[in-house]
Amino acid sequence: MTPGDALLDELADLTDEVRSLVEALARSGHREVEKGTGDPAWPSAGSAPAPRRGSSHPPGPRPAPLASDEDAEGAWSRFGGTGDPAARLEALRQRVEACTRCPLASTRRHVVFGEGQPGAILAVVGEGPGAEEDATGRPFVGEAGQMLDRMLTRVLEMKREQVYIANVVKCRPPGNRDPTPAELETCRGYLEEQLAIVRPRCLLALGRHASRFLLQSEQGIKTLRGTWGAWHGIPVMPTFHPAYLLRNPADKMLTFQDLKVLKARLAGGR
Ligand code: SF4
Repeated sequence: MTPGDALLDELADLTDEVRSLVEALARSGHREVEKGTGDPAWPSAGSAPAPRRGSSHPPGPRPAPLASDEDAEGAWSRFGGTGDPAARLEALRQRVEACTRCPLASTRRHVVFGEGQPGAILAVVGEGPGAEEDATGRPFVGEAGQMLDRMLTRVLEMKREQVYIANVVKCRPPGNRDPTPAELETCRGYLEEQLAIVRPRCLLALGRHASRFLLQSEQGIKTLRGTWGAWHGIPVMPTFHPAYLLRNPADKMLTFQDLKVLKARLAGGR
């Protein structure tokens, strides 16, 4: 198959996807999507109304009663920490990059600490580095990273630089196996420190492992996604991992709904 053939196949898949999205949204009353522009795999960010508390919610997630942003700030204050956040984050980076506390240190090529600035209103949390992340030392690169970028820009209308991105474990498990409970537990403190310095208003948990880890749940991502949870009092929206969406593009519709709920909260809606 030539690159041109592959591109045509991709376009055909995307056309099928957008047709099913439009039909689903039209059935639920969101006819504005018919005027949407941009990536057909992601309806335009303004195409579906933000859910309102007390309103009937379109298919998909129904937001739980939400704490105020002041509550989130109060939750962060329990972590303490003083001094310049950027300097603290850099000091933490240096500690993590020298870490040998678990066996993953012996097989990693690079520690993938995370990216972003203190004060980001949203932190995106994934599971752990894959091969490309291990090779580059950066989170969410490659195809899954490009998918994440589209989720951010085309639905949340945010650039990657505006969010904080980190994984639950900082070193790649060999062969892309799941991190063990002991590895997760050993690395846990680093993520907590990162988030306590950044102090995001909300967390977006990508995939089963990050969602189960943050929410301390044994449930699967298909059950967890789209419903607000909390991590130390900070609101968490679980949704599918971008790598999963690459394999299961039909579920982009569900992630679109999850991100719309998150977007409404970040904008101050309830
Ligand atoms: S995964 Fe975490 S705890 Fe294990 S070596 Fe890497 S940074 Fe240290």
